[in-house]
Amino acid sequence: MSSKENPPKKKGCDKGIVKRFKMRLDLIFDYNGLVNQGATCYLNSVLQVLFMTKDFREAVESHCGQDQKTADFHLKSLFKALKTSETHTKDILSILGIGNVYEQRDAAEYFENILSMVTPYVSQIFKGHLRHTMRCSEGHVTSVETGPFWTLPLSIENPSDSNKTYSVRDGFEKFFKSSTVSEMYCDQCNEKTYSTIACKMEHHPEILTLLLKRFEFDYHSMSYTKNDCCVEVPHTLRTKNCDYELYAVVDHVGSLRGGHYTARIKSYDDHNWYVFDDSYVRQVCFLSIELNIDCFSVKYYVSSKYIKTPPIDLTLNIL
Ligand SMILES: [Zn+2]
Repeated sequence: MSSKENPPKKKGCDKGIVKRFKMRLDLIFDYNGLVNQGATCYLNSVLQVLFMTKDFREAVESHCGQDQKTADFHLKSLFKALKTSETHTKDILSILGIGNVYEQRDAAEYFENILSMVTPYVSQIFKGHLRHTMRCSEGHVTSVETGPFWTLPLSIENPSDSNKTYSVRDGFEKFFKSSTVSEMYCDQCNEKTYSTIACKMEHHPEILTLLLKRFEFDYHSMSYTKNDCCVEVPHTLRTKNCDYELYAVVDHVGSLRGGHYTARIKSYDDHNWYVFDDSYVRQVCFLSIELNIDCFSVKYYVSSKYIKTPPIDLTLNIL
């Protein structure tokens, strides 16, 4: 009698174990896609990067408010859903004020929009500070401006040789190189002199985002064009104060009018790289030391810091 009752009970028990095991596997290793609501791949790629950024996700998940008008609330709901299955982004689109889902938009713009809408506690890991200092030819400081940043925009010059690639490392270093400007008035010299502007990273963000400015206004055609040159992205980036390690790349293929965004992200759970292409998520091999890719923005997390060292100006070549 008992032998007749036992099998279904045992089966049910096994099913439960399998289900729990699968849920655990889903939570740890499997990632889910986001439905493209029309042409919303720009938003999906950004949301997946935010979801896969451990500190950001945890900060969003710690949000306790029930106010449905906040971005924190909707991101928390989205992340919860994304942990178990493919999901849509209708509420996020709504809170971002995106009415026309078929319009092509800029991923970097919506990355910044989301960060400016969430509470400062949630967005703080992405925030850095820059200081621009202007000095006259005698070395007198004539102006100092400081300001926060979410992304550092790197200009991509058109390589004259089509086989040449743009180096993110060089572009990053160039960003902090001082530049000479035309004659500016100095109070202490009491005259106009050639001045130099130096840029320094006053506060290093935990997550550094570099935006590759592929879309530039072309005065010949009087329209925006895309620079399609290959980009060399280093896996590590060293500054005076800390080392950064690459963990996310947002790609853009196609032209300004018709293109597609995807994201390649390194999981902090299993340390594998995944491609997030709207609904489709797959694991990829990302072992090369230097990448030659058509990427649009790259993200680095701080792998080590040297904060104890006295602050050193990255741009010492002052005239
Ligand atoms: Zn002066």
